[in-house]
Amino acid sequence: MTRSILTVGRCILRWTLFFGMALSPSYGATNYTISLADPDRHLIEVQVVLPEGPAQRELQLPVWNALYQIRDFAQYVNWIHAKDHAGRPLTLLQLDKSRWQITGSQAGAIIEYEMFVDSPGPFGAEFNSHHAFFNLAQLLMYSTDGRDSSITLRFSRVPSGWRIATPMSSGVDTFVADNYDRAVDSPVEIGDFQESAFEQDGGRYQVIVDAESSDFDMTKISAMLHKIIASATNWIDDRPFERYMFIYHFPRGPAGGGMEHAYSTAIAVNAEVLAKSPEVLASVTAHEFFHLWNVKRIRPQTLEPVDYTRENYTRALWFSEGCTNAAADIIQLRSGLLDERHFEEDLATDIGELERRPAHLTQSAEESSLDAWLEGQAYYRRPERSISYYNKGELLCIALDLAVREASHGQASLREVFQWMNKNYANKHLFFPDSEGVRRAAEAVSHADLERFFAKYVVGTDEIPWDDFFRGVGLHLVTAPTTTADAGFLASRNFDAPMIVTAVTDGSDAQIAGLRVGDTILEINGKPPGEDSSETTARLHPGDAIILKVRARRGVERELKWKVESHEQVSFEIKDVENVTAAQRARRTAWLKGEAESSPQTH
Ligand SMILES: [Zn+2]
Repeated sequence: MTRSILTVGRCILRWTLFFGMALSPSYGATNYTISLADPDRHLIEVQVVLPEGPAQRELQLPVWNALYQIRDFAQYVNWIHAKDHAGRPLTLLQLDKSRWQITGSQAGAIIEYEMFVDSPGPFGAEFNSHHAFFNLAQLLMYSTDGRDSSITLRFSRVPSGWRIATPMSSGVDTFVADNYDRAVDSPVEIGDFQESAFEQDGGRYQVIVDAESSDFDMTKISAMLHKIIASATNWIDDRPFERYMFIYHFPRGPAGGGMEHAYSTAIAVNAEVLAKSPEVLASVTAHEFFHLWNVKRIRPQTLEPVDYTRENYTRALWFSEGCTNAAADIIQLRSGLLDERHFEEDLATDIGELERRPAHLTQSAEESSLDAWLEGQAYYRRPERSISYYNKGELLCIALDLAVREASHGQASLREVFQWMNKNYANKHLFFPDSEGVRRAAEAVSHADLERFFAKYVVGTDEIPWDDFFRGVGLHLVTAPTTTADAGFLASRNFDAPMIVTAVTDGSDAQIAGLRVGDTILEINGKPPGEDSSETTARLHPGDAIILKVRARRGVERELKWKVESHEQVSFEIKDVENVTAAQRARRTAWLKGEAESSPQTH
């Protein structure tokens, strides 16, 4: 077995010195072994060895992790047993759907359970004959009195030829983490992956790719990473890690998305999308990489400490996700991975996406953050019910950037806001008080009162007066009625769940063809559906045929066919104002670089 990461961290040395092969139970530490038992049936066995401690303890399997959704990982636990070190059974009493009480564990205990593991994607846990990819919170139970103590993790029955990659520190034959939270923030890839490593400005980076070798070019990926890393660390002026790992999956089936971690990211992009639109990979990578600051270290107080047993409500996802999008744009603009024209086109598309959802007048950015936990529900995703905190949050951050520039006469920008939050919260190991914390940072760097901005656009649902914000950089928003294709329905998928029809227009040909809300879409025009039906329908023209293979709520599978209709909608474009002045042009250049106009003030 080749270990992918060799570390020289202090804790590794301690562990190897004291415990050598680290096979004996270590006092204070909880030792986990994940056995790759049966790839064909997607079964793993987990052994948890608890140290000496209280006679009665509780074991919890998280109900959620990272994605703000209750996923109840306990549904996949086939069986669970407990015994002492002599092999005598211990009493294990189930307390609720995800918690067990163990009695007689004063000298330690061994808990073993079997899990079905077949959720693909960067948010999931998957084990099959090709590879294993684990988000460990989905697999590892913790003792509720020992979440802060160190853990060791071993893998057994690893198929021959498979290697292990994880950002977790590695000992002789174990991986180690200071505590449970740190361990479960470390994804694990096990398989016959391809890898590459490089150093840049003192940081060490490892790239792990699980894909057909003909589907990607490691040299191009490394070149892209060099740009993103340089641009991001320079923009925020910090590198709070020594090493960082990028784990990529490029499957040929449906895939998309990334998951941020403090020292790594896991990203999936469909192989065909990667080939046709490599900018998608740059965009997801810039987003997930910037998350190592924004959300992992610049972190809302309301998400700490993590409570794995229930929803963790925060009003700040508009900032943690949306402003990560805005920062990712700046990172790409600064490194030449994105140009002004595409940035402005994307921005106009984002404005259109918000404006076209009636819920933008009823659901605020903060409310959308709280309601993240409803995103798994098909009805919730309807345009009259919800907006996206990614979408509104990104727009708010772009507006905030412009507002800070205006208020500070070009002395400060979003960059200074992030740097202030990084210095005053993250680097002091403090969490920020949600939207209020963002406001404090923006006011500190702009020396202005931004209460109205936050009251109207973050807490409230006022329309964002774009032209007021854009004026300083010589742009304005142009709207025009356009005729656009209308397939007559909306459908979306929630991560690895099937695509569900969420809306069918009354009287439309889709409705006449027999499509109903709640139907499951198996294929759109002969292809498996992506994340959202608009990915396919946006490419259709009025009069084109659309063929849907659907499964109705009652379980009947059938094919529906109709012709795409048209409807009037407002299109959005961002254009230069007439006679752009030299001052506006200078401000725009600074804005697109993510920099203040004059040298930033020292704080
Ligand atoms: Zn994100």
